[in-house]
Amino acid sequence: MKINANYLNLKESYLFSDIAKKTNAYKAANPDADIIRLGIGDVTLPLCKAVVDAFHAASDEMGVKETFKGYGPEQGYGFLKDAIRDYYKEEDGVTLESDEIFISDGAKSDLGNILDIFSKENTVLVPDPVYPVYVDTNIMDGRKIVYMSGNAENNFLPLPDENTVGDIIYICSPNNPTGAAYNHEQLKLWVDYALVHGALILFDAAYESFVTSKELVRSIYEIEGARKCAIEFCSFSKIAGFTGTRCGWTVVPAELEYEGVKLGKLWLRRQTTKFNGVSYPVQRAAAAVFTPEGRKQIAENLDYYRGNAKIITAALDELGIWYTGGVNSPYVWLKCPNGMGSWEFFDLLLTKANVVGTPGAGFGAMGEGFFRLTAFGDRERTREAAERIKKLLK
Ligand code: PLP
Repeated sequence: MKINANYLNLKESYLFSDIAKKTNAYKAANPDADIIRLGIGDVTLPLCKAVVDAFHAASDEMGVKETFKGYGPEQGYGFLKDAIRDYYKEEDGVTLESDEIFISDGAKSDLGNILDIFSKENTVLVPDPVYPVYVDTNIMDGRKIVYMSGNAENNFLPLPDENTVGDIIYICSPNNPTGAAYNHEQLKLWVDYALVHGALILFDAAYESFVTSKELVRSIYEIEGARKCAIEFCSFSKIAGFTGTRCGWTVVPAELEYEGVKLGKLWLRRQTTKFNGVSYPVQRAAAAVFTPEGRKQIAENLDYYRGNAKIITAALDELGIWYTGGVNSPYVWLKCPNGMGSWEFFDLLLTKANVVGTPGAGFGAMGEGFFRLTAFGDRERTREAAERIKKLLK
């Protein structure tokens, strides 16, 4: 028996454990310190009422013989796929067929699982810094990874470069951790590049619900040609606080075809073989997000987080600190002041302001010297953190 030795090439991820270790050690030495955590990427507001009501009602159905559900369709119930199809139409003007939408237990699983249908010989282009899952899942398969540098000059939005060619291109917009989001012209460059090179874009739209600026893109299918070269991943985690409830979706357009094979067909085969679908109550709860009450309640939650982001960015504006994100994203990505390194700034904030954030170096080499704060916290605590940061850095 031989193991998959590619796993030995994975770098241990110490980011969040190191943050916890440092924070706990500081707290142990300073028990009175009132620490505010703006480092987490998890949501804090509970599920909205429309979602909870649908969850209850569907759970009740499961306890009654006449309405009980056994195995559902592996690719999701029609009622949820139709609701997502309508959401695309109404929000983005994008036309999809329900059978191009595949329901799953979240974007992370799909981003990893989709790689089953691609050759390990493909070269992968990954932005740096970015959500670490893209890199690790490809290392597990032994694919060659080429990095596209994000930096202050390109506002952390790398664009195609004819010297850097890849077969699979990851785009995360709005980006985690930088909060930077592509506009239509920029994304069109990526779509054209993918079409010319016969490449495939994996577009991670997990934070699309935070986009409010009209010039920015929420779905890659807003761009002409994208149906021929892009798969889109999305999630209820950030739209509606489903991080612990688990539901997401992936769009594989009918036109997507490589080497004469439809990718939708391969993905359907992969899912029906290795996945048995998301639970019925969770899918009912997810569908409630798109009802008029659900939408209203979700919008209130998103506005709450946006308000937090505004408090953070206003403090940075006052201090004259460079940042991206915050406007169309729950993440604010700032340049550490006075040329400090990511961890140096982490220590300063922890010990002098009792505020915890995430060092940018944990998201890739290009993240060194930058720092992520999140808007997913409590309003009053966020306000207090912003005041402390202002006081410290003025
Ligand atoms: N994609 C990005 C960019 C993320 O930041 C996250 C979670 O933080 C995910 C995907 C995972 O989403 P899910 O909770 O649906 O697995």
